[in-house]
Amino acid sequence: AKRSGRSTVRVFDAGMDEGHRVRRDIEAGLNQAIVRDELSLAFQPIVGRGSLEIVGFEALVRWTTPDRGAISPGIFVPLAEESHLIHELGDWILDHALAELRHWPGQYVSVNFSPIQFRRSHFVASIMDRVRRAGAEPQRVQIEITETAIFDDAEHAAQTLCELRKLGFRIALDDFGTGYSSLYNIRKFALDCLKIDRSFIDGMGRERESAAIVHSIIHLGRALGLGVIAEGVETESQAQALRVAGASHLQGYLFSKPVPAAEARALAERKFMS
Ligand code: C2E
Ligand code: CA
Ligand code: CA
Ligand code: CA
Repeated sequence: AKRSGRSTVRVFDAGMDEGHRVRRDIEAGLNQAIVRDELSLAFQPIVGRGSLEIVGFEALVRWTTPDRGAISPGIFVPLAEESHLIHELGDWILDHALAELRHWPGQYVSVNFSPIQFRRSHFVASIMDRVRRAGAEPQRVQIEITETAIFDDAEHAAQTLCELRKLGFRIALDDFGTGYSSLYNIRKFALDCLKIDRSFIDGMGRERESAAIVHSIIHLGRALGLGVIAEGVETESQAQALRVAGASHLQGYLFSKPVPAAEARALAERKFMS
């Protein structure tokens, strides 16, 4: 019975379980990624709607492994979240993002935080500690969190955001429109801006619904005194429609893909995208 059991497992391993094996491999590799120096950050400019002045850069983590090549953060960030590697990864990302600030004339860096990081106790103290050690100013750091991070425990989240804002950090609500928050509810949170999710920008030219959602997010965001960043802008006609609708900032391949640190430094010095 033991033998047949084992061979059953082997057949299973070779077929259906391939996905599971790949995942275990990735998890194991991620554990080593930091010490093996396989991580890097890419930076994507966020520009003023009309002037195309670069006001900041979003930091996006990259992982390149010797055997699997580049692995998308859309795959490994969720794995890190499940295995609690997210804290170590998140600290690495923050420290490296902060280190770039001294090479830019004045732009801010916008850093993505997982809901798991955000909900950890001492989140504020730990960020502030790293910012101090980097000799950075909170005013030049934007914290990107998603709706999921703030709506599971709204009271705690409101408190955390308030503390961060008092220290001078900027707060952006990422992927806005995809979660379950309402514009009515976001009044309660200390935010600086909303980032309209790429899926709505993508749909703008094709579906009335997307265009309508984009317009209402911009309208209500402005009514609440918030900046509105449109992400995933790929075409001139999207950019034009977003300007007309009143978005304050634009981000997307039309202006620049996420670029390596050295290129971002050159863009930062130039100050404007053209
Ligand atoms: P996100 O925070 O919504 O990041 C935007 C994603 O859209 C990035 O993908 C970016 O490269 C991509 N993008 C930007 N402009 C365009 C465009 O014009 N067209 C298209 N098609 N795509 C565009 P990326 O870098 O693959 O990241 C995917 C997701 O992984 C991020 O979504 C974020 O949720 C997560 N992620 C990436 N870096 C980090 C990080 O440093 N920390 C955390 N916690 N999550 C991260
Ligand atoms: Ca983001
Ligand atoms: Ca986003
Ligand atoms: Ca997104």
